[in-house]
Formats: sequence, C-alpha cells, structure tokens
Amino acid sequence: MKSLDSPVETLSGIGPKRAVLLANLGITTVRDLLFHLPRDYQDRRRVTPIAEAREGETVTVEAEVVRARQVRLRGRMSLAVVTLRDSSGEMQATWFGRGFLAKAFVPGARGLFTGPVGKYKGPALKNPDYEMLSGDDEEDRLHTGRVVPIYRLTEKVTQRMLRRWAWNALNACAPELDEPLPERLRAKYKFPQVGQAIRTAHFPDEIDLAQKARARFAYEELLEIQLGVLGERAQRLHEEKGIRHMTNGPLLAAFRASLPYKLTSAQAHAVDDILSDLESPRPMLRLVQGDVGSGKTVVALHAIAAAADGAHQTAVMAPTEVLAEQHFLVLRGMLEPLGLWVELLTGSMRGAAAARRRILRGEAHVVVGTHALIQEKVEFKRLGLVIIDEQHRFGVYQRSELAAKGTNPDVLHMTATPIPRTLAITVYGGMDVTVIDEMPPGRLPVKTRRIPADKIPDLYNYIVERAHEHLQTYYVCPLVEESDKRELAAVTTHFHELSAGPFSGIRTALMHGRLDPDEKDRIMREFKQGLVDVLFSTTVIEVGVDVPNATTMVIEDAAQFGLTQLHQLRGRVGRGNVQSYCFLLGMPKTEDGARRLDIMCKTSSGFEIAEEDLKLRGPGEFYGVRQAGLSDLRAADLIRDVRLLDHARRDAQDILKRDPALAQPQHALLAQRAARFRQRIK
Ligand code: ADP
Ligand code: MG
Repeated sequence: MKSLDSPVETLSGIGPKRAVLLANLGITTVRDLLFHLPRDYQDRRRVTPIAEAREGETVTVEAEVVRARQVRLRGRMSLAVVTLRDSSGEMQATWFGRGFLAKAFVPGARGLFTGPVGKYKGPALKNPDYEMLSGDDEEDRLHTGRVVPIYRLTEKVTQRMLRRWAWNALNACAPELDEPLPERLRAKYKFPQVGQAIRTAHFPDEIDLAQKARARFAYEELLEIQLGVLGERAQRLHEEKGIRHMTNGPLLAAFRASLPYKLTSAQAHAVDDILSDLESPRPMLRLVQGDVGSGKTVVALHAIAAAADGAHQTAVMAPTEVLAEQHFLVLRGMLEPLGLWVELLTGSMRGAAAARRRILRGEAHVVVGTHALIQEKVEFKRLGLVIIDEQHRFGVYQRSELAAKGTNPDVLHMTATPIPRTLAITVYGGMDVTVIDEMPPGRLPVKTRRIPADKIPDLYNYIVERAHEHLQTYYVCPLVEESDKRELAAVTTHFHELSAGPFSGIRTALMHGRLDPDEKDRIMREFKQGLVDVLFSTTVIEVGVDVPNATTMVIEDAAQFGLTQLHQLRGRVGRGNVQSYCFLLGMPKTEDGARRLDIMCKTSSGFEIAEEDLKLRGPGEFYGVRQAGLSDLRAADLIRDVRLLDHARRDAQDILKRDPALAQPQHALLAQRAARFRQRIK
C-alpha cells in the first residue's frame, strides 16, 4: 500500500535510478512529490490550427514533424529549422543558436509547440517550448487539451514524467492529506480544502484557480513559520523573570545632559522602545536596525546608563577587534565622566586576567569585547544588559552564551545590515524590531561615481589635493577570503606602486587581515588621528570604523563585491559634514555586476539597496536566512508573497492570543509544524 510517507519508488515508473534523480529536487517521499508544486502552467486547451497562427501572437500548435535541419550561420552559430504540419497547413519552428536540436526531431513524430509567432520564410514559431507526444491517447490526455503544470526539473527527469508521477501520487494519496488550516482561516481567504487544493495546484481547470491553490500552500507555510517564531516570543511575553531596570536614575539623566547634540526623532523613538523594555519585568529581546552612521551607539549608551543606575553590568560584544576597540574608546569617552569604568576584553590583549578580576568583582561597569567575552573564565558579578553589535556576524549559540552569563539579562541586538522588511519579520520574527531610518542632521549623502580607466589619473590628483586639505581616503581592494594570497598581493601591489608614484608626496599606509592585531590597531589609530592620508586596505575596514575626516572611498574592482558590502564600505565615509565621494573602479564582468554598480550610483538608502540585493540574489543569500530555515520554502516566495506574509503574521498573532500553547485540537497540526520549524532554527 502506498501512503504519503512511502518512498517515491512505490509509485509505478520510479525505480532506484530515478529515485536518486528525484532526490536532487528534494523529493524522496510521495508527500514530497505532491509538494513539488509547479513553477508555472501552460494553457494547452486552445490549440491553434497552423493556418490561423498570426505573427505577434503566442500560440500552441499540435503538429507532426515533416523534416528537421541544421542551418549554419555566421561564425559558430547555427539554427535549427523544423517544418511542422497539421491538417490546416505547414509552418516552420526555429531555434536560434541551437542547431544541434534538429537531430532530436524525427519526421513523423507528433508534438505540441508553444511560442511566439515570428517570421522565417512565412510565419514561424520562434524558440518554442515543445513536448513530443507518445501516441498513447490516454497518456497524452494528461499533457494536452488542458492547463498543464510546468515543474522545476532535474537531469533526466522530464515534464512528462513528473506530470505522470504527480498524477499517480494524487490519485493514490491526496485523500490522505490532513487539513492543517482551521476552517475559520480557510473561509476567511476562500482557500480550497487541502486535498482539493493540491489537485488544483497540479492540474487546475483554470490557471487562476491554480494560483489560488498555490497561495493557500504559501500562506500555510508562512503561517507555520510565524507561529514558530512568534511562539517563542509569546512564551517570553508571559515570563516575568527578567530584570526591572530603573529608567529614571541619576546616571541616565547625567548622560542625557552630557550629549552635545539633540537626538534625531528616530533615535528618540528607539530610546523610548528600549527604556520601556528595560523597565518591564520580561527580558528584552530587541533588534535595532539602522544604516551606517545613523547613530546606534548613542542609543545603546542610554540603555547602558539605565542599567548602571540599578548597579547592573553591561557586556558589549563586537565581531572584530578593531570594532571592539573603537566602541571601547567611544564608550569610555562618554561614560568615564559619569564615573563608570569601561573595560576592554579581546583575545589578543595583555592584562586580560586583571580585567577579568575587575569584571568578576563588579568594578567594571561596562565590558566591551570580541567573542573573547563568552570564554568560560569570564564571569560577571551582575550582568544585566547584553548588547550585540553587528549581530548577524555571530551565531545563535554565541549570542545566547553571552546572555547565559547573567540571569535573564535584557538583550539588545544592533545591525547596520539593512534587511528587507519581508525578511526582517521572518528572520527576526521572534525579536522586537526598531528601525532608525533617519540620519543625524547636516549629513550629506555620499555621492557615488564610476570611474572609467582613462580618468584614473584625475582621481589620483583629486586624492592628493584632498590630502593637502587634510581630508583622508580609503583605498579598498577586494579580498575574497582572508587566506587568498593573490588578492593580498593586489592590495600590496597597489600600495607600493601608488605610494612610489602619484602618492609619493603624501602619507600612505597598508592594512589587511593578516597583520597582527597590534599592528592593525596602530595603523587604524594613526589613520584616525590624521597621520595617514590614504589607507590602502582590504575589507577589514568594512564595519563600523568611524573617521569623520575620511571623505573619499575608492573601491577597486567594485563589481566583485556584493551590494550590501559595497554599501557598508561606502558607509565609512560621509561621517562628517564635508561632502564625501565614493569612486567605483573596474569594468564589471557580468550583467549583475553592472547592475550593482548602477544601483550604488543611484541610491544611498540602505533599505533600497537591501531590496535590490534581495531581487538580485534571492533570499537564500541573505544573512540569517539560511540559519532561519528559510532557504527551502516549498510554496512561499519571500519576494512575491509579501501580502500573504503580512496576513500570516497577523493571523499567527491572533491564534497565539487565543491559544498561546497551540493546545486546541484545531491547531494540532499547525502546532506540530511550528515546533518542527523551531527545531530547525535552533
Ligand atoms: P552607527 O553605529 O549607527 O553607524 P554611530 O553611533 O557610530 O553610528 O554614529 C555616527 C556618528 O554620528 C558619531 O560620530 C556620533 O557621535 C554622531 N551622532 C550620532 N547621533 C547624532 C545626532 N543625533 N546628532 C549629531 N550627531 C550624531
Ligand atoms: Mg556602530
């Protein structure tokens, strides 16, 4: 007996070899096969007689192959020309650049050909999709005269095979499918019941109906995910085990009074959100997302001051030593005047033992560090607040390890990596999210230009002139991986050649990931102090470093970088009140590369860039997406299904309000799947 969970080999026509091929599509069971939903449909109900095919239309003809030949064109190109015939007449079908196809058409064979009608010695189908018929009537009826599904394929598996197998699987097992969606929700969206929906998704009477059926499964999937991520959160909302921080104490007041500028309203909102989390008894889990330079650090400082008012320690974890050191300097500069002790703890540091003692005794109020903070020997006296900068750089495990050093401390995540909203509410669905979408006043957006090869000497002159005005330049060369010696050579060569040539009159320095941390630190410090005019570097300067006097960013071979990374690099300039420029060098080798550079020139908004990046790369490549178990969605598409996602999220909230543990029988299946999703992202 076949059932949903039987291996696909139990279906006729699938042997061990084909089972292996199907596994490439993620299909191992009959259920998987059913949920291998079509990526598209073709309406083959209307077959056009050849005599009626008009230029400019897209038609399907059912015809016999009369003859097929390969026509050589200029160069190595060739054309396949196949003469087709039905009872009304003859026409050609041509495949440009694919002359080899001619061999595949045997005179006398019958097939369906779908494509636009153009011209080749009379009306001709241009590059049509085609499918040959078997001559077996019953079999052919699955593939003709109806709306047919088009599946994602793999090697040696054809549309016809998948259609046949899906058909068999539907007949054998569709009635067994349990309905996970409560009646109420199905009625709300007029979704078909599961068994009918799966049939319609594969073999719809109308294409519209198929879309509705597919939407049902996409919604179902998104609802399960939202129940998974929000479920955790709902549990936390019921917890009262967190710390009630003080938010009207003297340190916070003194800190506010010490600020040399007014907060932007986005910053003020973020501070409000955070302070109300802090004073509530449930542990905070909030993500602050703000473009580079939007002023996240000062927002975090409010939280630190509030924690210190209640004699709680704060741990701040950053992904790199350079960044940890920079945070340390900024925090110390602002907190020491208030009488707070700020400690630095990194892997390479001398005097770590003494620092750890001060942390254990509670003499250190704030500890800034790298992942060295999560070492076992680091113990806090009273850790009440954890801040994680550039949080996507850490694994879930590292983040929770740090929080485990306190008793339900409040946790604040910060990221400058803009994430499209659709992804944010799925990937970070379990966190509260605050967006800082405003820049401090007076900031001039960085102007971005592409520099053609013949203008590079002008660029060098420009950089030298800026240096004479004490304005500095970053000169970034690509480095694919820290260990890539060739790329390292690239930055080193540029540094030596330019330092000896056009930049011989100004001060240059070289920085890359291979230098030891002391050396990196020294160079970075010299650059910050204005002792270096041009800093040649790999992407080690990518995150967070703040040098207001640096106003020029040059990126060699810019098309090598991803959009998000380009945007991060560009964020290193434009941090003061002088107009900054970002110059992109090199010719893109791919269309996508060219598109990335165009987008960079067009917009300076991190969120716009993130949306574009999502379109170019697809969601699979985004930080956090894979970890969040979102790279193998069956029906949902995070770009196309934004509306469904909003509905799913609201419905999930609503369900959890009525049934927080998903204990009601009508939610049983949803509960199971949500739990499975949570398991996957653990
Ligand atoms: P982020 O961490 O978001 O990249 P930072 O917190 O490093 O940004 O802030 C960037 C710079 O802007 C810092 O030099 C900071 O002092 C300054 N800054 C932050 N907020 C304001 C504000 N409201 N007005 C003026 N300058 C600000
Ligand atoms: Mg920052």
